[in-house]
Amino acid sequence: MTRILVSEVGPRDGLQSISTVMPLAAKKAWIAAEAAAGVREIEVGSFVPPSLLPQMADTPELVRFARTLPGLNVVALVPNAKGAARAVEAGVHGMSIPFSMSETHSIRNVRKDHPAMLAEIRAAAAIAREGGVHFAVGLSTAFGCTLEGAVSPDAVARLAEAAAEAGALEFSLSDTTGYADPAQVRRLIRKVRSAVGDMLTTLHLHNTRGLGLANALAGLDEGITTLDASLGGLGGCPYAPGASGNLVTEDLVLMLNSMGLDTGIDLEKLIEVRTILKDALPGEPLYGFTPDAGPMLDYHERIAQ
Ligand code: ZN
Repeated sequence: MTRILVSEVGPRDGLQSISTVMPLAAKKAWIAAEAAAGVREIEVGSFVPPSLLPQMADTPELVRFARTLPGLNVVALVPNAKGAARAVEAGVHGMSIPFSMSETHSIRNVRKDHPAMLAEIRAAAAIAREGGVHFAVGLSTAFGCTLEGAVSPDAVARLAEAAAEAGALEFSLSDTTGYADPAQVRRLIRKVRSAVGDMLTTLHLHNTRGLGLANALAGLDEGITTLDASLGGLGGCPYAPGASGNLVTEDLVLMLNSMGLDTGIDLEKLIEVRTILKDALPGEPLYGFTPDAGPMLDYHERIAQ
């Protein structure tokens, strides 16, 4: 059975996109319940300055808590070298830094052009290496940008190569804007693989236009082994009312498990974790088809095959 890593990013990507600050106790309950359901990796938060993102202020505490859960790979997002130092200090297993393939987006968001971002990646990679922490780079806006439109696949491959040279150990292709389609996913994976090979392992997909699962499947066919997702598709899209945020973890796990792939995740237990989100974030929309419809009658026969 092929092992696929489903990386839960809801506590970071989901929570940073909504204005409600989830109480620390609820975040801990969420993370513990997902780990108990068999989720093997969780991005518990982000080391951005708390003044910018109060939703993420308790990330160091969450890292310490998550480290007590057996078998869980605890990862966090870092925006820069300063964040990388805080992440190492908190005790993460791994960190990932977003590198926007759209230079306009990068300048607008973090006030850094591509050379400045590569310098930041080099500094963060050195800090991670010294701390014995895994260091990944998320190639964000890789499939298109709300400011620039199309992003050149050649530029993505070139920037990935430069980031590898600066110390990246692993890459994800991030569809930050929900622009990707399955044919483009296949093409871009091949293009980036020609530059950095098997260091490209991960797809970070948003389901803004409903193409998340189709894009995930295209990635699996191209040998992707890690897929980011968020429980209940938490986060939504501020520009598209009714559109979920990340790929919905419950729907993704249903698809992977019923295809006979090994996620290690118990779908029924995973669906129960939604109760924690519903109670802690009243009124916040949760997405996904599987929680409503339930698994197929023969689901357990399918996953046993
Ligand atoms: Zn995202």
